[in-house]
Amino acid sequence: MDTYANFINGEWSPSRSGRFVDNVNPADTRDKIGRVGLSTREEARAAIEAAARAFPAWRETPVPVRGAIIAKAAVILAERKEEISRALTREEGKLLRESRGEVQKAVNVLEFMAGEARRLNGETVPSELPFNFAYTLKQPLGVVSLITPWNFPVCIPAWKIAPALVAGNTCVFKPATLTPATATLLVKVFQDAGVPPGVLNLVIGSGAEVGDEFVTHPAIKAISFTGSNEVGAALYKDGAARLKKVQCEMGGKNPIVVLADADIPLAVEAAAQGAFGSTGQRCTATSRVVIEAGVADRFVELLLERTRRIRVGNPMEAEIDMGPSVDANQYKTVHSYIEIAKAEGAKLVLGGGKLTDGPCAYGFFTAPTIFDHVTRTMRLAKEEVFGPVLAVLRVKDFDEAVEVANDVPYGLTSSVYTNDGAKTFKFIERIETGITHVNSPTMGGEAQLPFGGMKATGVGTREMGRVALDFFTELKTVYIDYTGKKREGNLY
Ligand code: NAD
Repeated sequence: MDTYANFINGEWSPSRSGRFVDNVNPADTRDKIGRVGLSTREEARAAIEAAARAFPAWRETPVPVRGAIIAKAAVILAERKEEISRALTREEGKLLRESRGEVQKAVNVLEFMAGEARRLNGETVPSELPFNFAYTLKQPLGVVSLITPWNFPVCIPAWKIAPALVAGNTCVFKPATLTPATATLLVKVFQDAGVPPGVLNLVIGSGAEVGDEFVTHPAIKAISFTGSNEVGAALYKDGAARLKKVQCEMGGKNPIVVLADADIPLAVEAAAQGAFGSTGQRCTATSRVVIEAGVADRFVELLLERTRRIRVGNPMEAEIDMGPSVDANQYKTVHSYIEIAKAEGAKLVLGGGKLTDGPCAYGFFTAPTIFDHVTRTMRLAKEEVFGPVLAVLRVKDFDEAVEVANDVPYGLTSSVYTNDGAKTFKFIERIETGITHVNSPTMGGEAQLPFGGMKATGVGTREMGRVALDFFTELKTVYIDYTGKKREGNLY
């Protein structure tokens, strides 16, 4: 069985803590994939120190040269797509075709960011003064820490590492302990692409120990975190108290709003894909359908028909449509929300149970679950479940639909199904989410476009797209006076 190693200063070596947890296949817990060493604070510190030592040379490496390394990483990642996708499915449980999609997206992100290395320019700006040249310059921050969740263990690290490195920072990266194999394979891609020793370091371990060191160590200039609100909120506070730059992307409770004039079969398909794809474990998963009451019965009937056809089982198999929850904890959370929803009076119209027979006998499988007549004050309407559980909320009209869609703490993504142009634009203006879709599902995002949420979902600047570089750079404003004379007038 593999023991995953840390990657510090260009060397791979397993943690010496002597503390381990198993990496287990969530579709079949008899399949023990590897041993995860839980690294110590000292190991985390060694990685930060290596990154600090590597920083001066990396910041002086011309930006297009840094970009060329990222471009090479994109090529290598594409070559290893199948191997990495299989490792991802085995340890995280998403379908193999979803894993391939995730790895491809990471390739796209690397390609895009490699190109941005040729455009990391500031601006030249006219000065109020004669013979003054004013411009801005983007510079790296120093050592940055990247802390990531298990649910997109290739793509999310890729969309943090690539802009951090292009910008000239050196990185310490802590993946979730549930997905160490994919993190290892991803870091090997950067190593093989020619990232110099110390520039990218990987430390596998717990949030409380390695994660905390990555937040609190004085050499860390910025923290880019994706994960739960509970952890993100605490980390934001700790980072801010030390005047570090912090970016957190957190939970979601994403709605599909279906208006009476919508193409109902199209909306049904989007709801099923959004709610049950990746077992509902996407931050962009659809967890609510907010629908005008007049079309709700027809919608629910078609949705039940569509969802009954979902085949649950081994995510490696091509004919399977939905895999397991990632681990026992997530499985427990899903079933506790199912019980809460029942107790609160939501109407369970499909699923709700654990699947424990046949291909599902040894994994964390849940039947795709739909609750109808969920009301806006129920916990199922407000809280992130992160599993295959969909809430249907019936509303009287468009205004109420938008109000209900916005009535959650989160604001990641949303979609609206309608053919009414005016309502489409009103929805886009009023919906409180960082991303919105018209007549397409709540998930998805392209490398060249910003990604992130409003309200409790996100703090700090957006990830992906050109804007991703803003977080990882300082902006310096420069005035060059070539008058050779003393300044006259107000010096404000
Ligand atoms: P999590 O918050 O439990 O863990 C995320 C990372 O933080 C892990 O690496 C974990 O080890 C680390 N961590 C835990 N405690 C820490 C601490 N005290 N200090 C520093 N680091 C610590 O989240 P998870 O369960 O891995 O991921 C699921 C969550 O991520 C969901 O809420 C989901 O919505 C969210 N998510 C959001 C986005 C987005 O872009 N908005 C994308 C994917 C996932």
